[in-house]
Amino acid sequence: MKANTGADSSAIQRWGRIMRAGFIAVMVLIAGTSLFAVLALHQARTALDEIVYRDQLAMQLQFRMLQSARERSVELYRIATVEDPFERDEHMLRFGELAGRFIEARSRLLRLELDLQSRALLEEQGRQAAVSLALVGEVIKLALAERREDAIALLVGRAIPAQEDMMGTLNAMLERQIAGSHRKAEALQKLQRLSIWLIAVLGVIAVLLAAAIARYVRRGMARLVGEMSIAAADLQEANRQLGYQKLAADQHNIVSIADTRGNIIYANDKFCEISQYGREELLGQNHRLLKSGVHPQSFYKGMWDTIMAGSVWKGEVCNRKKDGSLYWISTTIVPFLDENGRPYQYVSIRTDISDIKEAQQVLMRGRDELEQLVRERTAELEERENVLRSIARHAHDAVVMLDPAGRVTFWNPAAQDIFGYAEAEILGRGLRDVLMPGEARDRLEQDFAAIRQDGPGEFAGKTVELTALRKDGQQAHIEISLSAVRVRGGWHAVGIARDITARKRAEQQLELLATTDPLTGASNRRRFEEVLHGEIARSSRYGVPLSLVIFDVDHFKRINDSHGHPVGDEVLVRLAGLIAGNIRETDVLARLGGEEFAVLAANCDADCARQLAEKLRRLIEAQAFPGAGAVTCSFGVAGYRAGDGEDALVRRADEALYRAKGEGRNRVIVAAP
Ligand code: GH3
Ligand code: MG
Ligand code: MG
Repeated sequence: MKANTGADSSAIQRWGRIMRAGFIAVMVLIAGTSLFAVLALHQARTALDEIVYRDQLAMQLQFRMLQSARERSVELYRIATVEDPFERDEHMLRFGELAGRFIEARSRLLRLELDLQSRALLEEQGRQAAVSLALVGEVIKLALAERREDAIALLVGRAIPAQEDMMGTLNAMLERQIAGSHRKAEALQKLQRLSIWLIAVLGVIAVLLAAAIARYVRRGMARLVGEMSIAAADLQEANRQLGYQKLAADQHNIVSIADTRGNIIYANDKFCEISQYGREELLGQNHRLLKSGVHPQSFYKGMWDTIMAGSVWKGEVCNRKKDGSLYWISTTIVPFLDENGRPYQYVSIRTDISDIKEAQQVLMRGRDELEQLVRERTAELEERENVLRSIARHAHDAVVMLDPAGRVTFWNPAAQDIFGYAEAEILGRGLRDVLMPGEARDRLEQDFAAIRQDGPGEFAGKTVELTALRKDGQQAHIEISLSAVRVRGGWHAVGIARDITARKRAEQQLELLATTDPLTGASNRRRFEEVLHGEIARSSRYGVPLSLVIFDVDHFKRINDSHGHPVGDEVLVRLAGLIAGNIRETDVLARLGGEEFAVLAANCDADCARQLAEKLRRLIEAQAFPGAGAVTCSFGVAGYRAGDGEDALVRRADEALYRAKGEGRNRVIVAAP
């Protein structure tokens, strides 16, 4: 639309230029033609006038010469014929006058511009005049001598014919002059006709040119008018829409127009309504009328600076109603610029935002109250945090907290006691590098990672025991219970750890006591049964060999009886030490009761066990027992058979031992497979 208008205006300008140029061209042509024609005519007329004047003068002079010549002839005749001398003198005087007139006319004629032929004729006439004059002189002389008859005879015979000749020449001159004039007049007429034709042709050309230009311009104008009528229709439509928009804007907006001094020149109904002023009260008034005093002077200055610079100003303004109450409006001020870009009017479009402002104030109050509440709650929380921190600080258990990235964010003094690291050393670091060696670390890390990912889940309240590495390189047994807290959308893992090294040690002690024979340090019967149960299960599942060797000190009663019970005890201690030092690590030595022992040999079939038993028998036999001397033992060996239970295996080994006793002691008997 805008581009169209631009194109239209440039087309109008172009056609205007064409029209102006065409008009000027036609005008110049017509003026030139006219000037040329007038000049040509004027020149022709001047020339004609001059010719006519000159020719007329020449003819007049010739005519005068002819006339005076004729009259002179008459006077000469009278001079020749009159008898009275006074009368003759009068004719002589008259004759002289005529001669003078003739000469004057001739000399004037000579001064005129004559062509060569006329001049030749004049010279001829001069010669003839001289001849005639000589004869005239003769005639006058004869007349004065009173010889009238001779005078008349000379006059008639020669002077008059000579005069006639001269007059004939003059006549010829005159005729020639007349013919020349006629010719010149004709030529001038021709020139005039030519001029008229030329004017006519140029006029026609000018008219045709004007017509062509007019036609071209008319076509251009017609096209332009077509375009302009489309543009006008568009403009009308746009105007109509603008009208609707204005109507719509007027319905919802407070609209006013002010001049450059801020004086109101238009106010719509909404403006009147909100300000409570009548339209006639507003028009002509300055906008200052509505000033509320809420804004500082600099606010209005900024507004004016913006719109005076031709820019649009937007802002929220508080104005005062007629009744003194205030109202808030969101305002847009658009300056209307003249062709020099200077504002000449301002349109203010405003929306009532008093409700919004009120809501804002309510919100602000709410916010203030909320802030107060938050401050109170924060103080409360800080107190609680201090309490919690104090608890954590004085707790005997280590309290450790990890952020979602696995970095330590909390570390209490108990944690320092347990792990040896000060808070400053560990904060921001992962536990991986410092605390957890091996498998335990990986497991705990997985747990922590799961907690950080999904929250406490299955780990809530879960307690795990593991071994941690203290800063001093020592291992510490810890029991750690895991939980999680959600902080700013992320799960933080919390571990509460307790050093259970001492407890562990006590437990291990108890375990040892519960499974070990206190006299010999070998495993007790309970432990033996446990191990036997496990090994039989393993062999039955995997088919690996397993053998049981049971041995009993021969005639132990005698040792006791001979050397005393303590020596007997000592024998038992030494015996157990000897055996323990000569079996594999995987073999288990147990005291089954009194002076009866068992070796459970895993991964060892009956034959392997027999060899073992034999080796042990020899060692015992070769050993000297302080206070008791030589001691021997009898051995019963049984290899595991598929389907054997614990009792079956023990019974067969027992039976073999029984047989060894029966067959003379200090020997090895292998139970039948
Ligand atoms: P045999 O060759 O047939 O085995 O003869 P023996 O004397 O060893 O026979 P028996 O098994 O009947 O005797 C075992 C004795 O071992 C009986 C008991 O007084 C003694 N005894 C059992 N436990 C202990 C102990 O812990 N210390 C001491 N010194 N003697 C014990
Ligand atoms: Mg015995
Ligand atoms: Mg015995």
